Amino acid sequence: MWFFRSPVIVFGEGALDHLATIQGHKALIVTDQNIARLGYVGLVQGTLRPAGIETAVFAEVEPNPSLQTLRRGAQQALSYEPDWIIGLGGGSCMDAAKSIWIQYERPDLEPDNVAPMGTLGLRKKAHLIAIPTTSGTGAEVTWPIVVTDLEQHCKVTVGHPENIADIAIVDPILVGGLPAPITADTGMDVLVHAVEGYTAQWHNDFADGLCLKALQLVFDYLPRAYESGVLDSEARERMHNAATIAGLGFGNSMAAMAHALGHSMGAVLSMPHGRAVGLSLPYAIQFSVRGGLPTRYAEIARFLGLPAGDEAEAAAGLVEAIRALARRIGQPTTLREAGIAAEEFEQKLPKLVDNALNDSAMIIGTRFPEDEEVGKVYRCMYEGSCVDF
Ligand SMILES: [Zn+2]
Repeated sequence: MWFFRSPVIVFGEGALDHLATIQGHKALIVTDQNIARLGYVGLVQGTLRPAGIETAVFAEVEPNPSLQTLRRGAQQALSYEPDWIIGLGGGSCMDAAKSIWIQYERPDLEPDNVAPMGTLGLRKKAHLIAIPTTSGTGAEVTWPIVVTDLEQHCKVTVGHPENIADIAIVDPILVGGLPAPITADTGMDVLVHAVEGYTAQWHNDFADGLCLKALQLVFDYLPRAYESGVLDSEARERMHNAATIAGLGFGNSMAAMAHALGHSMGAVLSMPHGRAVGLSLPYAIQFSVRGGLPTRYAEIARFLGLPAGDEAEAAAGLVEAIRALARRIGQPTTLREAGIAAEEFEQKLPKLVDNALNDSAMIIGTRFPEDEEVGKVYRCMYEGSCVDF
């Protein structure tokens, strides 16, 4: 038995207007300073006003939200008593909203101690709306929450299927002006979600089609969104859809090794999530296909029109296509290119390996690595040369 989970998804131009139809009294908007400065908070408040919903704003979410920030947001929710929580921003803001919502409903739970078992008993006080302002994480349609433990320098994934948003609003107006580097970083995340959602051990018939469609949209529209920015509204809209579609795909399957490697790079090397997982993906594919276990790269390659005589040829073609896309949108293909100095890399390698091995996404790939194999993968990633996994 398996489940397919999704919020109600309102998408396309004008999707934000749906806010004017919701029922309730008070909404707490969880966001960051940058989103507030861009005027998006005002936009959301202005749309909620005709629905008679008053708002408060918690705009303190930082990239990779810390446990302390999540606790502060929960305090505000407990004193304000909203019946809607609205996560507005990138993955960090939407994840923070999920965590704040859980703590508001269940003040007995610590933000890093929410496990996907039993019943949480949410929706007694409030419901959740997720509004992405980047085209990347898919957090508007997934339930896992990534929290950062500043003391331990690691990221922990927590959450429960119940804390998936009730409504996701996917309006391209919010991504029209995304700067090119953020378009590239977040777009790589979409690509990785699509490939990992399709190839993870928990792949399934319901998620497969979503992953392939998202992959096609990324190859067709990410270069355009990166190169033309605000001038190409079609590319922006299709990439915004792709992010949510890939989120549904991997959210109902699983992320795998590139996410384990990338989460660790985010925490240890302070690399943006999409850049880290995008850089990791070709190495994770090369590692996985060498295990001799069944993989699904040939199916992906065939779908993309790449050579797919056998799994090895398909994996090589897919790796090349991913690297070509990465180069076209200014993404690094090695850790050295990403600006990591050799001494820093050597010094941080044990921590990188340790975090990656402890990441729950690692066990979902087709091949589970030994400690020294993870070290080898990172070394390959540093120089870009390989490959003796
Ligand atoms: Zn991701």
